[in-house]
Amino acid sequence: MLTGELKCSDINKLLIRYINFDLNKKDNLRVAIHLRNCPKCMEKYSHILKRKNELKKIFIEIEKKLRMQNEISSYVDKECEKESRFIIEAMLLCDEDYKKELLELRNLQNIFKKTEEIILENKKTNFTNKILARERIRKYEKRKFLNKIIPLFPHLRHALAKFV
Ligand SMILES: [Zn+2]
Repeated sequence: MLTGELKCSDINKLLIRYINFDLNKKDNLRVAIHLRNCPKCMEKYSHILKRKNELKKIFIEIEKKLRMQNEISSYVDKECEKESRFIIEAMLLCDEDYKKELLELRNLQNIFKKTEEIILENKKTNFTNKILARERIRKYEKRKFLNKIIPLFPHLRHALAKFV
């Protein structure tokens, strides 16, 4: 079989660089000739190339999603320029992904808002409870004080009893 000057083991070492266009012209040609003539190496090459393209697609998707999330959050927070607002509004009208992202963001915001409200409500309740507790202590102290002095002023017993 015609496989150029390179052996399959050489191809293993050069394949990734070949795929990444990282070889000089001469090596590039030698790998290409070997691949054309060796089904085994060609299969490996196709497999790696396929995986690389799949990864590339995933990265592009992630980048798109991140860009979209940035755009939508700046839109929602009213931080973007008028012109960008217009574009994002157009995207929200026609792109399902944008719509979904906006909904997710709104849901998250609602959850945050509710959590904040609950925290605030708890703070208020705690504050009220503290005041009530202080009030109870004050009343208790007052009663203790009155109970102590009433026996000392028997003639004022009725008048003082009102405060107990
Ligand atoms: Zn080979």
